[in-house]
This record gives sequence, C-alpha cells and structure tokens, in this order.
Amino acid sequence: MENITFSKYPLKSLLIYYLATILHYLFGYFGILIAFDYSSAGKIVSAAYLCFAIVQMYILMPMMVCPNCAYTNKPEMLCISGLNVIARKFFPKGDLNNFKSRSEGILCYNNLYMSAKILPVLIILPFLFINFSWALLLLLISVIGLLLLRIFYIFKKIACNHCLVRNICPNAISMGIGE
Ligand code: SF4
Repeated sequence: MENITFSKYPLKSLLIYYLATILHYLFGYFGILIAFDYSSAGKIVSAAYLCFAIVQMYILMPMMVCPNCAYTNKPEMLCISGLNVIARKFFPKGDLNNFKSRSEGILCYNNLYMSAKILPVLIILPFLFINFSWALLLLLISVIGLLLLRIFYIFKKIACNHCLVRNICPNAISMGIGE
C-alpha cells in the first residue's frame, strides 16, 4: 500500500489531514491568546493568526496551488485536502507545468503554508518564560507535536506517498518521496 497512487484519496485520509490541520490552528489560536494573558493585544494577534491560517489554507491554496494540479482537472479525482473540488468550482484552470511555482520566491505558497504551522510556536515560546502556565506549555507541546506529526507521518505516510503529482511536487521531492 506504501506507494499506491490515489486518484481519489480515502475519506479516512482526508479526515486525518483535516483534523490535524484544524487542531493545529485552534491550538495555535488559544496558545497565543493565553500567552498574551487574554489581553486586547492577545485577542487581536490570535484572531489575526487564525484569519491568516484559514485564508492561506482554504482560499490561497485553491487559488494559487490547486488550479495547476492534476487533481483539479478531472471531476472524479479527490486530493488529500479535498481543495481540488473548491478550485475546480471557483478558480480558473491552471497549468501543470506551473505546479512547481508553489515553492518559488519568498512569498510562495509553500512558505505561507509552513508559516501558518510554525508561527504559533515562535509566538508562544518566549511567553513561556515571561508568563508561564501549564495550559500554555500543553498547547505549545500540542502544536509542536502536530507539526512533527504532519512532517513525519501525514506527509510521508498518508499524503505525499500516494499523490499523483509527487514526482513534480517540490515538497515531495524535498522529502525524498518524489523523483
Ligand atoms: S506531493 Fe504532497 S505536498 Fe505535493 S501536492 Fe501531493 S500531497 Fe500535496
């Protein structure tokens, strides 16, 4: 099963991917809120983080990445995020030859995607020393755990190793999954 290519990912895989993503953003949101001790500044920063995380994942991904992906061209296909369905409905068709552009430039989509995962760690960590609480520590550990889970398990065992475009995807290639 390790290297079977899915033209339609099983719903179980989508569920794991969604759960890990939503929990990551929620833990990040609450972690930032607690780090700032529920202050007005904390409410603004945590809300800004959550907006950024949701927009980059559920608007920018189908807008910038999915139109160039092979999963978006065929109605019967379903990718690991399911966002190919959104892209097909709302955004103009792209070109598979441009798929690699997701990793090109400082503001490329890949950097936005990883920023949304790493930002809560960078924000919460210093506050552990300034404003320690067990809840904050637990949220930080949870976010780091979800980040490691994504990199070492979800990408490698659930998503990229079954992906139709793994041989042209910069992520998969950098992880040694694609050719
Ligand atoms: S190889 Fe991985 S990162 Fe690249 S498009 Fe497929 S699932 Fe996404």
